[in-house]
Amino acid sequence: MSLLELRDVEVVYQRRDGTLVPAVAGASLDVNAGEIVGLVGETGCGKSSLAKAAVGLVPVASGSITFEGRPVHVLGRRARPVSERRLQLVFQNPYESINPRRTVGAQVADAFAIGRTQARSSWRPRVEDLLRQVGLPATMARRFPHQLSGGQRQRIAIARALAADPAMIVLDEPLSALDASVQAQVANLLVELARNLHVGMLLISHDLAIVRHVAHRTAVMYLGVIVETAPTADLWTAPMHPYTQALIDSIPHADGAGHLPVALPGEIPDPARPPSGCRFHPRCPRVMDRCLSEVPELVAKDGGRRVACWLHEAPGGARRAADGPSVAP
Ligand code: SF4
Repeated sequence: MSLLELRDVEVVYQRRDGTLVPAVAGASLDVNAGEIVGLVGETGCGKSSLAKAAVGLVPVASGSITFEGRPVHVLGRRARPVSERRLQLVFQNPYESINPRRTVGAQVADAFAIGRTQARSSWRPRVEDLLRQVGLPATMARRFPHQLSGGQRQRIAIARALAADPAMIVLDEPLSALDASVQAQVANLLVELARNLHVGMLLISHDLAIVRHVAHRTAVMYLGVIVETAPTADLWTAPMHPYTQALIDSIPHADGAGHLPVALPGEIPDPARPPSGCRFHPRCPRVMDRCLSEVPELVAKDGGRRVACWLHEAPGGARRAADGPSVAP
């Protein structure tokens, strides 16, 4: 049993005009203790909706989500039972979870206090310890959020998440609002926390370069479905799905080797009217006749990979692949 298990999850939104939009159209994914799983894809592919569903912030239309073997309930963050506080969410913008009018120390203490009965005066050493864990001095406890940099605020958001003694943290674009140098520092912090505290992490990002640096395993999402999962190093060096290949080709290389990024052709389609067959077929350079009408399922491959593409059909026909870890975290 994995720490977090998502099975055939569908998330549907309703637009103002009444149109139903399947933002997530049947995604399955596992995350294990101490493992960082990256979830990548273009803006609008459904990865943030899947993250919110994973922590119970939006309802699933079908499928199931379990955390530590129990179903995740759809509740407001403040209404979550203590057991589900072990599943935490960190947002892209730390101001979504930080109160600008309270000191850093008070806010970390607030997060620590929920579900605990000890006297508040006894929490101070724990608050200072949490600040140190995220690479901040204990003196930071007396400051207000507006006195901090973006990177420091995101570290505070992570400290608040850690205050609940989480087994799992879902991070929705946690680095995208930060400068490049600060991104690297916070990315390194996530790797350290996963390793030292054995916390599982689901890292949502549109930035494959960051996920390559941080994640043990990566899942690629396109228009509401997961099209490939693999150990991150394998995905990077030998992507199997044409969309994964295109994503990697679209990344500028910083090494000056002369590699020019290749723009992905076309726009991501409206999820309310997804293309027939393979959802990627209107943009795929290797499209075949059957891709226009037949939906490729995620099938297991050697080395812990899974891919949904008719170019990689399983011998004897497609078979559905349960997701799972392929490398030890
Ligand atoms: Fe391209 Fe067909 Fe594979 Fe889809 S199934 S990615 S259209 S080759």
